[in-house]
Amino acid sequence: MIHVTVAFHEDLHFFLSDESRRGDIEASFHVTRSVKDLIESLGVPHVEVDCILVNGASAGFDYLLDENDRITVFPPGLSARSFGCKESELLRLSPPDQENTRFLADVHLKTLARLLRMLGFDTLYDRRWDDHDLARIAVQEDRVLLSRDTRLLMRSTVSRGFYVRSTNPDEQIVEAVIRYHLADRFDPFKRCINCNGEITQIDKERIAAGEVPPGVKAGASSIFRCRACGKYYWNGSHVERMRERIETIRRQIR
Ligand SMILES: [Zn+2]
Repeated sequence: MIHVTVAFHEDLHFFLSDESRRGDIEASFHVTRSVKDLIESLGVPHVEVDCILVNGASAGFDYLLDENDRITVFPPGLSARSFGCKESELLRLSPPDQENTRFLADVHLKTLARLLRMLGFDTLYDRRWDDHDLARIAVQEDRVLLSRDTRLLMRSTVSRGFYVRSTNPDEQIVEAVIRYHLADRFDPFKRCINCNGEITQIDKERIAAGEVPPGVKAGASSIFRCRACGKYYWNGSHVERMRERIETIRRQIR
């Protein structure tokens, strides 16, 4: 019988049972197993783990557990100093953040996907995609998979993923902005909220000459159009509402 002790950083307590949150978790098993297998069996998806210390030394997911091992598990976003070591001594398990983070939202996160697009972030969403499709696209296109399904995020092929804690989209967008350091990279009116296509502004001269596209309110001074689906956005309705919502998000982040 192999006995080990596991402790999770408090940011990961969210995933644990009430009992496991109280302190060190004792685990016993007959046949050795990988540390990743043990961590996920306790409810924490590997995509939420960035560093593992085994008896004080940095270890990879495939480390095979041994008698009396003491394991501590940490989420992304912590500096090497918080582990009491140098960055070079640390094995980071989550891939480095991308310069232009691109997302893929699961079927339950439609509003979050629309909010990310509103802020200009490339975010795929299609309610027809099942778990298999989502995992495949996340890997093929190297996108961050956003989900509230731990089983989906535990799929071994998925390396970039984030478990969205809140069920409220207004809080979900704040979580995503903080986790992926997006606050200084908002680029509103770049992406279509409906389809993720890029939008472009229509020439001011054309509007001044009375060339207002059908369906767009007369008098609109700024008009944008999605290159992919053709949807129009104009000030006075969409644009003002979007600006207000973006301001609210900025306030919440501060
Ligand atoms: Zn569109």
